[in-house]
Amino acid sequence: MTMYVWDYRQEYEREREDILDAVDSVFRSGQLILGDSVRSFEREYAAYHGVEGCVSCDNGTNALVLGLRALGVGPGDEVITVSNTAAPTVIAIDQVGATPVFVDVCPRTYLMDTDRLADAVTERTACILPVHLYGQCVDMATVEEVAREHGLPILEDCAQAHGARHHGRLAGTMGKAAAFSFYPTKVLGAYGDGGATITSDPEVEANLRRLRYYGMEKEYYVVSTPGHNSRLDEVHAEILRRKLRRFDDYLAARRRVAARYAEALSGTDLVLPEIAEGNDHVYYVYVVRHPRRDEIIERMKSYDIVLNVSYRWPVHTMSGFAHLGYGAGSLPNTEALADQIFSLPMYASLSEDLQDKVISALTEVLASL
Ligand SMILES: *Cc1c(COP(=O)(O)O)cnc(C)c1O
Repeated sequence: MTMYVWDYRQEYEREREDILDAVDSVFRSGQLILGDSVRSFEREYAAYHGVEGCVSCDNGTNALVLGLRALGVGPGDEVITVSNTAAPTVIAIDQVGATPVFVDVCPRTYLMDTDRLADAVTERTACILPVHLYGQCVDMATVEEVAREHGLPILEDCAQAHGARHHGRLAGTMGKAAAFSFYPTKVLGAYGDGGATITSDPEVEANLRRLRYYGMEKEYYVVSTPGHNSRLDEVHAEILRRKLRRFDDYLAARRRVAARYAEALSGTDLVLPEIAEGNDHVYYVYVVRHPRRDEIIERMKSYDIVLNVSYRWPVHTMSGFAHLGYGAGSLPNTEALADQIFSLPMYASLSEDLQDKVISALTEVLASL
């Protein structure tokens, strides 16, 4: 059987009864949209983070779109972020009519190089959007300092960092608001699309609630600005509630997988993930680096193991973003790592047997180069 970097089927076999019970309880409840499961999940997800409000929505991209709009970001504004991210981070900025401004990443952690942040601020900057990529947090002390100095809100992209901590603080609690995705592969994943934006600011929360529901405040009546239809389905909310109860086990399992990789591969010439000071990593993906990346990926296929790259094309190099005007060479660290990084299979239910298969194949491939 071909192995991929992610697979939900082992988890499903293990949790099948509970998942099917969640589906059945929703289908029998008489409420399919914005009912008790959505309300309970929002309360429980906010409580997990110790924040006041959680507004769920249909996916992580829209969690960012709603977050940006709820903070008042719109046409003519600039939003500072990185190009080494999932394209949806940048697509969300584009969706609200704002212009993304990229800072380069740190060559060791692959996260926003916050030393370059202050230089990216202009009169048009309306928001800083740090991406806690791969499962660990950006150096927030500097982000917060720049934000404070210029009076800018921070919107954290936490789509890859559920449960990650930075000097003890949870990802998603360090800015004005934070966006999460519950896409199935994510650290907390639904069995379909889902997302949420969390905040402790009551005005931002009210904006989020209005915007995800057409912009309506009163019954079938848009008072201020038209919004979106961007709701989380009851069935995914109920599945997420069940999975949230097991969430700490998922994190522990991911950390065990990461520790086994680190131990088995530390003697090779792969560059393994570096954990920045103060971070508790949740390993959304296990990203390694090697100058002969493409050959390694190709040879692993003969072992029936398909690896992938997060991300092969930095957003600013995609033709669809050529209008932003970042030429080749404009973000050297980002471009250099994109040629060398790749991801190994990583998910909470990955068995030791399967992981051992990956490790022995990879060790053989590396020795044969
Ligand atoms: C997955 C992801 C998103 C988008 O989430 P969707 O639920 O797929 O829309 C945004 N940002 C990052 C960093 C992601 O990994």
